[in-house]
Amino acid sequence: MEFCEPSLFSFGIIADVQYADIDDESNFKQTRKRYYRNSLKLLQNAIDAWIVEKVKPSFILQLGDIIDAFNKTHDASQSALDTVLRECERGPPMHFVWGNHEFYNFSRDTLLSSALNSKCHSGHLLDNHDFYAYHFSPAPKFRFVLIDSYDMAIIGHDESSAKYQHSLKYLKNHNSNEDLNCPPALSGLELRFAKFNGGFSQDQLRWLDEVLTKADEMQEKVTIASHLPVHPLATEPMSLAWNYPELLSLLQAHRSVVCYMAGHDHEGGYHRDETTGIHHLTLEGVVETPPDSQAYGTVYVYEDRMVVKGNGRMRDREMMYPDRLAG
Ligand code: ZN
Repeated sequence: MEFCEPSLFSFGIIADVQYADIDDESNFKQTRKRYYRNSLKLLQNAIDAWIVEKVKPSFILQLGDIIDAFNKTHDASQSALDTVLRECERGPPMHFVWGNHEFYNFSRDTLLSSALNSKCHSGHLLDNHDFYAYHFSPAPKFRFVLIDSYDMAIIGHDESSAKYQHSLKYLKNHNSNEDLNCPPALSGLELRFAKFNGGFSQDQLRWLDEVLTKADEMQEKVTIASHLPVHPLATEPMSLAWNYPELLSLLQAHRSVVCYMAGHDHEGGYHRDETTGIHHLTLEGVVETPPDSQAYGTVYVYEDRMVVKGNGRMRDREMMYPDRLAG
């Protein structure tokens, strides 16, 4: 793809690095290899490329699972995190989404006081709530919102908390297996009701509704980033957020929303919502990317569209903004 006109700004995208200093292994479904050590090299390559871009990206969206759960088993969570953060610090400011692997390694409190809490880049530090979500505007008329898809979940919450108890009850209503990591069905949308996924609390949905209402009024274009995909046609069902229908109808109710980006499903995916024109982009996971390939992109933002320049497994895409923005 050739770019004739300069973009308003650009940003980098990358997901599921899942670094660990361990040998390669197959994924859960035995369909792909996971290159745990090499994923660090691929992260380094992506940062190197962003640093030398003619116009440096304004920021990077890292969509979760930056280190793998195996680090916890090897008592290497902190050292693995330090290793990936050393790389991240070389590049443009990074916004960190939290995925299931962040919660396998660290408690929510530890994450909040770590460098993976990038809320300091938002200018809304006083916006206090018990989920990890914030928004920022890198340029007039554009807003990015990071939301927490493990706000309602049984990983990342203390077992004595009301949130854990509520989430456990919700999950058990949909999954009667003793091992809640085992999905309740062999196929279909029910596959999403497993412990490794999560969803959005009513508090967070209300908060997001307020943020998007303001964005509608300001005639902004909003991109939302989270770990779990929310459109069934942009991912395999096993990777969807538990209460994705609630989030989808919220997005559909706000004309400011142009794009929803997620990770978690390492195969990646894309779908444009038929009724609203919202783009749902699921990024290919770095950890399942062969050493001779890549899985990161740079998004160039224009008045009427965003253009993804993908590398390796990530393909190029032109995402025109929905028509309803003009209405
Ligand atoms: Zn994940």
